[in-house]
Amino acid sequence: MTVQKRYDVAIVGAGFSGLCMGIKLQEAGIDSFVILEKADEVGGTWRENTYPGCACDVQSHLYSYSFEGSPDWSRKFAPSGEIFQYMLRATDKYALRSRIRFGHQVVHAAFDVEAGLWRIRTRDGDVVTARAFVLGTGPLHVPMIPNIPGLETFEGKAFHSSQWAHDYDFRGKRVASIGTGGSAIQYVPAIADAVEQLYVFQRSAPWILPKPDRPYSKLEQTLFRLSPQLRKLHRAWLYVRNEARILPIMNPRLAQPLEKIASLYMRSLVEDPSVVDKLTPDYTIGCKRVLLSNDYYQVFNRSNVELVTEAISQIHESSVVTADGVERAVDAIIFGTGFHTDPRNYLQTLKIEGVDGKDLLTHWAKGAEAYLGISVAGFPNMFELVGPNTGLGHNSLIFMIESQVHYIIECLKLLETKKAKTMDVRPQALRDFNEELEERLEDTVWTSGCRSWYTQEDGKNIAIWPGFSFRYRARTRHVNPDHYVWTPQAQQHTVAGGAMSETEIQTEIDIAAPPSVVWSWLTDFSGFREWNPMVTAADGPATEGSVATLQYRSSVGVPLRFEVRITRTARERELRWVGSRLGISGEHYFELIPVDAGTHLVHGEVFRGLLAGPLGFVFRNQVPVFEAFNRALKEVAERQVDDTIVAPTGGTAPARP
Ligand SMILES: Cc1cc2nc3c(=O)[nH]c(=O)nc-3n(C[C@H](O)[C@H](O)[C@H](O)COP(=O)(O)OP(=O)(O)OC[C@H]3O[C@@H](n4cnc5c(N)ncnc54)[C@H](O)[C@@H]3O)c2cc1C
Repeated sequence: MTVQKRYDVAIVGAGFSGLCMGIKLQEAGIDSFVILEKADEVGGTWRENTYPGCACDVQSHLYSYSFEGSPDWSRKFAPSGEIFQYMLRATDKYALRSRIRFGHQVVHAAFDVEAGLWRIRTRDGDVVTARAFVLGTGPLHVPMIPNIPGLETFEGKAFHSSQWAHDYDFRGKRVASIGTGGSAIQYVPAIADAVEQLYVFQRSAPWILPKPDRPYSKLEQTLFRLSPQLRKLHRAWLYVRNEARILPIMNPRLAQPLEKIASLYMRSLVEDPSVVDKLTPDYTIGCKRVLLSNDYYQVFNRSNVELVTEAISQIHESSVVTADGVERAVDAIIFGTGFHTDPRNYLQTLKIEGVDGKDLLTHWAKGAEAYLGISVAGFPNMFELVGPNTGLGHNSLIFMIESQVHYIIECLKLLETKKAKTMDVRPQALRDFNEELEERLEDTVWTSGCRSWYTQEDGKNIAIWPGFSFRYRARTRHVNPDHYVWTPQAQQHTVAGGAMSETEIQTEIDIAAPPSVVWSWLTDFSGFREWNPMVTAADGPATEGSVATLQYRSSVGVPLRFEVRITRTARERELRWVGSRLGISGEHYFELIPVDAGTHLVHGEVFRGLLAGPLGFVFRNQVPVFEAFNRALKEVAERQVDDTIVAPTGGTAPARP
């Protein structure tokens, strides 16, 4: 069934980003929002990545929400399952579950300039409209599977690390693991023991440092529980220490001592000098993500593990062939090949159209760019979380997410205070921001000549924030209104901060009726009986300029009041068109204006239609208008049932005339 809903904010994704957005919207009193999540559970990265050994590589006391610290982390770098549980707890604690529409994959979002609304469509055809559109689709979410000739002919088990085959028994199997990034260095040691033979295919060696991991003692956990201040201090200390890791990245000369440490670490663990050579990276440390592990290097001392550095040229039914012609028989292939990190790839299944139908991916043909990684020119009221150039190699991404969420809420507040319909970043502000990024990227280790998932084909860094994360926090503390173009709300009437929108009027006009029945008809049109409509105040007959108040009492007993105006001016353009098709010119139009319908509903939608023709005939059956109105009322009722919100309206309604 197609569901049409209207919200202040629609968020895509229920990972750390989307959940944080939801929590902070509630905190800011913006209750009208929905989170659309394609999966059937929250968690994003931590729902998907369940491979053996999966854990964060930023300390859990820091890799968690600042406002939702936990004293219970079992170890410094918690395993994936524990992070996932943390997210489930946060979802329930902040009562977000009822806000999330699971199984809703967003496939299309288009901005309606006139209405100032995003129309967002899911794969199943549901449509949501929202004033603001927030993308929390995740930067590491769409698996990257290399295009290796013959892959489709492989008859064994093949899967990506983020889609781990938990039912696959590795015992006695010959396994090819392709890729040596953050995931592979975690699962390779975890399966090396079980498999008969493991081939680790490496294209480029990672720099690896020891992981300062250990379990937290019961005493530490108790102290953190007793003293949140101590826990916060611990978090702050971790933050400062991690932040210092950006120094060698921004100043490659400082990287040399770090390379020495990493090199010594590797040599101390790997026995075979020829393997040491193969494991030694050929680029400056920090150019690609520096990995942390205490058990990866030792794997290469095992007799059942081989490090293969020749490029893979072909895959056959049951083997992997490298460029040197060597064929290795395998039963399974694991792709530890990471994710599509370029938004132009990972947003392929989500078409986003801004002003004048401008397609986001076409707009980004030369590379993804967004002002502060959040706003894209020509896409008003759209906000990205973990957008271009806001990833971190050295610290917690959640710190960046919280900064962005704060900024977006500031934007929403400004829309309100400025009584603006839309805000659209000025192209010049975006250009200046990009120039600044490019300047800052110069002379960093990222431009020292390596290819990584931080960069696109032409070498442009599209992923990483070049600098201290606290600088980004400072930049996102306040919105500079001069960096945006603000368009005023087109209509006079607003409800609960919502933007005005207008329901399109179509051509269905047939039966006529005399004006004397207008008021009663308005209270009585199809589908509204169940709402017990009552005209509470009508100032005379239904002629131009007259106004009535329509009160609806829903089944949950919450009153909703609408103003009905008979007017000449409403959407005359469309109505004239309708009239001209019928060979008449309209004289009376009506508007249904929600005036008091609770604190967060129907967002100022004005429902308009042609009421009477020149001979005083009422054109009934303007089905689309009434259907839209009816849908909106139903939505209100559903929300009220969901949220058990009591609308502030009161008063008893006089009997129907
Ligand atoms: C193995 C692994 C380890 C990591 N470790 C760390 C770490 O230690 N520290 C760190 O800072 N970062 C780490 N990261 C990065 C991590 O992705 C981020 O920290 C964070 O989880 C991103 O959250 P997110 O909500 O932006 O994206 P995600 O967690 O990817 O969530 C995105 C959500 O959006 C949903 N979605 C996507 N498209 C649609 C659509 N069209 N319609 C509806 N729903 C959609 C997805 O189903 C998903 O639930 C790691 C990543 C991986 C893969």
